[in-house]
Amino acid sequence: MAADYTDTASAAYRAALQVVESVEPRIAAATRKELADQRDSLKLIASENYASPAVLLAMGSWLSDKYAEGTIGHRFYAGCQNVDTVESVAAEHARELFGAPYAYVQPHSGIDANLVAYWAILATRVEAPGLAAAGAKHVNELSEADWEALRHTLGNQRLLGMSLDAGGHLTHGFRPNISGKMFHQRSYGTDPETELLDYDALAAAAREFRPLILVAGYSAYPRRINFATMREIADEVGATLMVDMAHFAGLVAGKVFTGDEDPVPHAHVTTTTTHKSLRGPRGGLILAVPEYADAVDRGCPMVLGGPLAHVMAAKAVALAEARQPAFGTYAQHVADNAKALADGLLRRGARLVTGGTDNHLVLLDVTAFGVTGRQAESALLDAGVVTNRNAIPADPNGAWYTSGIRVGTPALTSRGLGTAEFDRVAELVVDVLKNTSPTGSSKAKYTLADGTAERVHAAAAELLAANPLYPGLTL
Ligand code: PLP
Repeated sequence: MAADYTDTASAAYRAALQVVESVEPRIAAATRKELADQRDSLKLIASENYASPAVLLAMGSWLSDKYAEGTIGHRFYAGCQNVDTVESVAAEHARELFGAPYAYVQPHSGIDANLVAYWAILATRVEAPGLAAAGAKHVNELSEADWEALRHTLGNQRLLGMSLDAGGHLTHGFRPNISGKMFHQRSYGTDPETELLDYDALAAAAREFRPLILVAGYSAYPRRINFATMREIADEVGATLMVDMAHFAGLVAGKVFTGDEDPVPHAHVTTTTTHKSLRGPRGGLILAVPEYADAVDRGCPMVLGGPLAHVMAAKAVALAEARQPAFGTYAQHVADNAKALADGLLRRGARLVTGGTDNHLVLLDVTAFGVTGRQAESALLDAGVVTNRNAIPADPNGAWYTSGIRVGTPALTSRGLGTAEFDRVAELVVDVLKNTSPTGSSKAKYTLADGTAERVHAAAAELLAANPLYPGLTL
């Protein structure tokens, strides 16, 4: 985060909230309260972070008022010169930061980025029956009749992604998401013994299924992926390799994941959110090799609504921050802290999926504590520890109650907690879990032993007070 922002940022926020208050006081109050709540909780949600005041302030402007459908220099609205500048700067930072030939910074979220990417891969790869006859260069230029024929082909493509209970994301081909309905989907899991990705099994599944798209990436897998191997598998079966690095983009940006662990040189298309370990505003972006760039560039209006220029401005600021050496140090601390957290949990008798971590999260199997993920999540919350329940491989409690909790380090690392503090966090988590018991046969109701919530709250408050969020920022 920028070093000396506090007085200016405090004044800016105070002024902004006063203006908001004059119109709708409840919104100003909720905004103030949110800061207080975030300051007071031990945030261990692996997908959340704290963006810098520079990132947050970049979003609060009249850039929000401008419509700019289209792409840089080619808009469907007049007067987009400043949005062009904003989008160009953000895309330039993204290309430089990740070493990618092409970057698209318009996606409003990670799911939107994945939808644009799927569309772009379909548009680039699927043979359009009428393309040559129509004299068109791109499927977007086909006639309605050609589209009618093409619809049947587009809707019949195959996608291979990581299964949900192994840590994959809904957008990687699962039913509640359109990706699970528009593609013939199959998923790969992890080895039942080691719980690690089994590349041989994955390759065998790919050979048999022959997907158009192989998706790599995860929301809840606590290990690094070998993207060179993923690319070999994709090449062997003629698939496009799409990597969704939403969770670990910060570790890529900070050069903790390099070589075979850096997806960008290996994937055809890489998507990400900007608000998780990358510590930017809520949003998404896409990196691609030139072959897919033209189709990705048509994301708006093909898939997306008008770009959010104020959020692209904040993405540019966050990406500029991520290019600073301090971000590399931060990313390394995120990984070191996850390791310390995992070691602390293991030492205190917990079972971790895959036996540990080498990224920014751990997946804790709470079965041995006699509770479900849902009960663990709620009891931890009572004690001021914010995590989220998560399925574990072959979860006997299913995706709603689950048997696991996902615990991540990006947010608290931004507050300055180090390995010693994360060992203490492990102690607090285990303290709560040991003192939680289910009520009867309920998978949701539980009892927390007397005094536990107070004890853990007090210990968490000490950790938080020693590592303040936005130090010096007063409203
Ligand atoms: N991809 C992955 C791997 C994710 O974990 C998530 C969110 O949790 C997304 C995509 C979706 O991001 P968003 O919530 O910004 O749409």
